[in-house]
Amino acid sequence: MSTLYVVATPIGNIGDISLRALHLLGLADAVACEDTRNTAQLMTRYGLSKTLIAAHQHNEREVADKLIARLHAGERIALVSDAGTPAISDPGARIVEAVRAAGLRVLPLPGASAGIAALSASGLQDAQFYFVGFLPAKGKQRETVLGSLRGIAATLVFYEAPHRIVDAVDALTAAFEPTRQIVFARELTKLFEEIHRCDLAQAAAWVKADLHREKGEYVVLLAGAPAAIAADEVEADRVLRILLAECS
Ligand code: SAM
Repeated sequence: MSTLYVVATPIGNIGDISLRALHLLGLADAVACEDTRNTAQLMTRYGLSKTLIAAHQHNEREVADKLIARLHAGERIALVSDAGTPAISDPGARIVEAVRAAGLRVLPLPGASAGIAALSASGLQDAQFYFVGFLPAKGKQRETVLGSLRGIAATLVFYEAPHRIVDAVDALTAAFEPTRQIVFARELTKLFEEIHRCDLAQAAAWVKADLHREKGEYVVLLAGAPAAIAADEVEADRVLRILLAECS
């Protein structure tokens, strides 16, 4: 039956792909992928050869139309990104939205996602988490976003690009209480995998202590707001809303 399958692929260790994902990639009529070279390597590793269609952040809308035409013709299409789960800080959401809007079936094939992997091995005890993904690169915008997260009583989950980890930690240090716990989940499932937990006050020193730590892929987890701060933020928000209502 014509379906778009959203297929998770490994975030490092090539073995982290489900049997069902491999079966589906074998059955699919075509694979829409963020970077055809990366996906070609994965397919070759598992002895698969399929038509690959480039579907990245700059062409998602056009590709969605092509995929919809193929699905209307009865095809099964797999959608993958370079690593982990498509549409999670990766291209794919626009395609999924368009395919659904066309009344066609979209199903997930679950698997690796860096944020969930990091949370599972962090030992942080907040019952809830809040997925932030990538912070804005520009300082002012980043400060605004971080300010809006101060009162959230759930573990904050950040993705960070390798070359920005030092800046990001400095920004977190400036924005949050020094006693909050932070967890660095670096190069998960890869050769130099490392998971480190400390107080935010020690975070910058840990990252800067070893040049290798300024590289690599990171998920950064920050413990949620202590109860008193969360309550203060809620109260401040309530007062602001009343004032805004009176001004309008
Ligand atoms: N779609 C992916 C997922 O499901 O996790 C995320 C893709 S996003 C473009 C890439 C970011 O995910 C990296 O910059 C890093 O923050 C995080 N990431 C991906 N692989 C990772 C790994 N092996 N270890 C730590 N973080 C990783």
